[in-house]
Amino acid sequence: MYIGSHLSISKGFEATVKQAISIGANTFQFFTRNPRGAKARKLDLEDIMVADELCLLHRFGSLLAHAPYIYNFASKEDDTWNLAKSLLKDDLERLSHLNSCKYLVMHPGNHLNKGIEYGIERIAQGINEVIDGSENTMILLETMSGKGTEVGFRFEHLKEIIDRVKYKEQIGVCFDTCHTYSAGYDIVRDLEGVLKEFDEIVGINRLKAIHLNDSMHELGSRKDRHACIGEGTLDLDGILNFINHPKLRDIPIFLETPNELDGYKKEIKLLKYGYNNL
Ligand code: FE
Ligand code: FE
Ligand code: ZN
Repeated sequence: MYIGSHLSISKGFEATVKQAISIGANTFQFFTRNPRGAKARKLDLEDIMVADELCLLHRFGSLLAHAPYIYNFASKEDDTWNLAKSLLKDDLERLSHLNSCKYLVMHPGNHLNKGIEYGIERIAQGINEVIDGSENTMILLETMSGKGTEVGFRFEHLKEIIDRVKYKEQIGVCFDTCHTYSAGYDIVRDLEGVLKEFDEIVGINRLKAIHLNDSMHELGSRKDRHACIGEGTLDLDGILNFINHPKLRDIPIFLETPNELDGYKKEIKLLKYGYNNL
């Protein structure tokens, strides 16, 4: 099982890999740049090489890069849209140096009252203007909660974006359990049904990563508030049932729960060994 949490790379990649190891993780997620701004650290190729070696040595699964929130590929504003394209281009270039990371997850975007259809078209067009099929990093679209004017809270949205992308083999999906539940998919009482629907619409083979979060809100609330594992509406049983599903067992898991390192360490232990072994 590949499991890790979101970690800050502010001390560099090598230090972050070591931090992951210290909490029992064998992968982690990180922001490619300041999540609310656009600023990226200067690439330290030496640090990246050492981190890659460490990941190999400790048999890590692929790391997961997360795009900053200012990416908005659904925006009608050309400035915003062009910024998203240039940041994605730059992120893909930077990630091409980090062998231990094969995936970049991004939120599809917010249509800002232009409508879902407009958003979908705009997102696909933006991606098409950035990628040429030669990238060694796959872009993962995240399943969203449907707050505000988010695109991507229905599996159909993701499918329609992928359908319009030219290099489809470069696109996958990251399944966020908190978001998907908030969007109205009952992964607690009908996981089988939800996965069947996902498979029919998107294709389970596109699923490359799981954001494992409990939720503070009810099914269908369209709200996005993560809770610690077992402390929200998915509950520990819902979470364990989810990660033990045969179709999901080999997909890497990334925690985005409201925790510090110590909390992540406990959750990783719980998820790896179950509550009988705590
Ligand atoms: Fe996200
Ligand atoms: Fe997420
Ligand atoms: Zn979220």
